[in-house]
Amino acid sequence: MQERKLESPTNHNDSLLARSRHAVWHPCTQMKRLETFPLVPIERGEGVWLVDCDGKRYLDGVSSWWVNLFGHGEPRIKQAIKTQLDQLEHVMLAGFTHRPVVELSERLAALTGLGHAFYGSDGASATEIALKMSAHYHKNNGKADKHRFVYLAGSYHGETIGALSVTDVPVFRSAYSSLVRDNFIAPSPDARLAGPGETARDVADAAANGLAAILAAHHEEISAVILEPLVQGAAGMAMYDPHYLTRVRALCDQYQVHLIADEIAVGFGRTGTLFGCEQAGIKPDFICVSKGITGGFLPLAAVLTTDEVYRAFYDDDVTRGFLHSHSYTGNPLACAAALAVLDIFEHDDVIAANRERAARWSKRFAGFAQHARVSHYRNTGMIWAFDVEDPRPGFAQRLYRAALEQGLLLRPIGNTVYFMPPYVMKDDEADWLVAGTTQALEAALGGQEELDDAAIA
Ligand SMILES: *Cc1c(COP(=O)(O)O)cnc(C)c1O
Repeated sequence: MQERKLESPTNHNDSLLARSRHAVWHPCTQMKRLETFPLVPIERGEGVWLVDCDGKRYLDGVSSWWVNLFGHGEPRIKQAIKTQLDQLEHVMLAGFTHRPVVELSERLAALTGLGHAFYGSDGASATEIALKMSAHYHKNNGKADKHRFVYLAGSYHGETIGALSVTDVPVFRSAYSSLVRDNFIAPSPDARLAGPGETARDVADAAANGLAAILAAHHEEISAVILEPLVQGAAGMAMYDPHYLTRVRALCDQYQVHLIADEIAVGFGRTGTLFGCEQAGIKPDFICVSKGITGGFLPLAAVLTTDEVYRAFYDDDVTRGFLHSHSYTGNPLACAAALAVLDIFEHDDVIAANRERAARWSKRFAGFAQHARVSHYRNTGMIWAFDVEDPRPGFAQRLYRAALEQGLLLRPIGNTVYFMPPYVMKDDEADWLVAGTTQALEAALGGQEELDDAAIA
């Protein structure tokens, strides 16, 4: 209460920022830093643009943490939520069901070949569900010792305690390591690791051989391998050869270990196919989806799994059932938004249209590969990334700030700059993205300011 008086806000926006700093604990943020680098108060969004309270526009180059697939305010998703709102806003999913959740489950089953959908409210809860379901499956099959997991170097699967136990991003994990149980870490297939004369496929094979050694030694205590198909997002958009997924699928079969595909970031078209796993022609035992599933309108996650897993829980005994519940499981409004997203994929033939967009935008973005300080320029589907050499710490913060000045929302991860634009970006907006990023890059590399490396993803 005392503190609040000290701010003495001068105008409406300052007051909103001050109130936010006092009352809202912002995610992935050192709150003290907001003393010198203020929040951006956003009033509205339209298409790829976010508009702040002073009317300044920012092109959302990262689809607001990878969720707004169709930009902001997509009218069809909005309308679907409004229609559902007049019908039923919520009912508990234990003992009850409703049309949107049934339809969504059937459609996700048809799209993935995994016929049973369990719902949560965000990505981390999907990870928790998949881990618990996998271990409980083995327990129900008389293999209670299979309760550990394998995750990849550089992996990110969320930040709840279970999800952190399969996440290898030190800045998110270290402070909580005493809370997190040990699992097995396998090498990353990140194509940037290729030595001279090596291909991405060679790196994939080497990483798969590393995984094979872990499984050979420990498969009797291993429940599942969890991975992000094709692109490890939080690792800095680490892209890899689909061959790795083929190898992992075969190894999981060989050692009777589940394969959990975390499609939370890459699902719904981001890698160029509806799901990343499709590019290796493999079927995982679990697929986790969230982020783009509602196009950024409402929180929703789902874990999809096989008949085989489902049958292991089907019994008269309650304790053999899957015991997990979230209050908002299968919320009808969120399911209606997700159904609208699937309709858009069908109606607009989004995957095919994205292929053409990606080709056009790649021509525009390719210039970054020529920049003297840029290495590992790369692209998978609707993700573009490159690494920037800057001897000083704090590049991510400097670029983030310089980009905002240019009217661009970019959030570099370490020294990796990436674009994950909304699929609806127009070509002239892509040009704006290139021009703004080029300016911001020069400003960030030329700036004198020394900053800490930001803990941002
Ligand atoms: C974002 C993300 C998560 C966690 O999702 P939240 O909704 O932030 O909890 C998990 N896995 C991957 C690959 C992600 O990108």
